[in-house]
Amino acid sequence: MRILVTGCAGFIGSHLCEHFLNLGEEVTGIDNFITGNKKNVELLKKYRNFKFFELDVCDVVELPERYDIIYHLASPASPKQYYNYQLETMLANSYGTKNLLEKAKKDGSVFVFASTSEVYGDPLIHPQREDYNGNVNPIGERSVYDESKRFGEALCMVFFRKFDLDVRIARIFNTYGPRMDIDDGRVIPNFMVQALKNLPLTIYGDGNQTRSFCYIDDMVEALKRMGVKSNLKGEVINLGNPKEIRIIELAEIIEKLVNRKLEKKFLPLPKDDPQRRCPNIEKAKKVLDWEPKVEFEEGLQKTLDYFRMVLDEKI
Ligand code: NAD
Ligand code: UDP
Repeated sequence: MRILVTGCAGFIGSHLCEHFLNLGEEVTGIDNFITGNKKNVELLKKYRNFKFFELDVCDVVELPERYDIIYHLASPASPKQYYNYQLETMLANSYGTKNLLEKAKKDGSVFVFASTSEVYGDPLIHPQREDYNGNVNPIGERSVYDESKRFGEALCMVFFRKFDLDVRIARIFNTYGPRMDIDDGRVIPNFMVQALKNLPLTIYGDGNQTRSFCYIDDMVEALKRMGVKSNLKGEVINLGNPKEIRIIELAEIIEKLVNRKLEKKFLPLPKDDPQRRCPNIEKAKKVLDWEPKVEFEEGLQKTLDYFRMVLDEKI
C-alpha cells in the first residue's frame, strides 16, 4: 500500500508512519515543522520505504504519486500551540483539509481525518458518544481549534455525500506517550518535566476537571484500523481510552512514579477548559474490533522514561 501522512514530524504522525513503515508499506510524509520536530523526520528517513516533502498543506501542490490511504493529521494540537498559531490552525483544518480531500478524490483514496474530542466542546453529556453534537463556544479562544475541526469534519462529509469519497473521521481523545513535545504545554509533559526537575506541579483550576488518556501505541493501532478496514465510508468514530481521571489524581500518580511528594501550584483554569471528557468507545469496539490495552501506569512509566532521556539530552 502507498500511504500519505500529513503532520509526520509530529507526535502521533511520526508514530503512525513508523508503524506502517515497519509493516513494509510505502509511506510519504508531509510537514512544515510549525509544531513538529525535525528529529522525528530524521528517524523516519532511515527507512528505505519513506519519502518526505517539506510542505504546508494549505498550499496546493501536485503530489506525483497516487495514495491508497491519506491520513490528514497536520494541525497544531495542544492548547498552547493553537493559541500561538491561531490562523495557521484554522487554515490547516480548512484549506489543508480541502486540498487533501481533492487529492483523495483524484486518487480514489481512503481519507482519514484526524478530528478531536474538542468537537464536543465542554460537553454536557458523559461519556461522549458520536451522535452528541457538543457544546462549543464558537467565538472563544479554543474555537480556532474546535470550530476548524468541526469545519474539517463538515467538509469531509461534503466529499462523502457529493462525490462518494471514502472518508472516515477519527475523533481522537487525549493521547500521550514518547515524542510528545516537551514544551507543548499539555498536562502530561508539564507534570513529568516538573516532577523530574523537582518543581511544583502546575494545576489549573482545582484539578477536579477530568480527562481520559490513551497511550500512543493503542492510538496508532486504532488509526491503522480506521484506514485499512473496509466498509467504513462516512463513519465517525471516537478513539480514546474510556478510563476517566481527575487532573489532581494524575498529579498523585506521577508523584507515585517519581516516588516523592511534590508541591502543587494552583493556577487559573484556562477559558473554556472542558470540565469533563471521556469517550464512549462502543462504536470503535464494534466496527474496528479495537479497545485500548496499555495500562495507564505502564504507559506513563514509558513516557516518563522518555522525558528523562530528553532532559538528560540522550535523545
Ligand atoms: P503535533 O503538533 O505533534 O503534530 C502535528 C504536526 O502537523 C506537526 O509536525 C506540525 O508541524 C504539522 N503541521 C501543522 N500544520 C501544518 C501545515 N499547515 N502543513 C504541514 N504540516 C503542518 O500534534 P499531534 O498531537 O501529533 O496531533 C496530530 C493530529 O491529531 C492533529 O490533527 C490533532 O488535532 C489531532 N489530535 C491529537 C490529539 C492528542 O492528544 N495528541 C487529540 C485529538 C486530536
Ligand atoms: N492542565 C493542568 N496543568 C498543566 C497543563 C494542563 O492542570 O500544567 C489541565 C488543563 O487545564 C486541562 C487538562 O489539564 O484541564 C488537560 O490539558 P491539556 O492541555 O493536556 O489538554 P486538553 O485536553 O485541555 O486539550
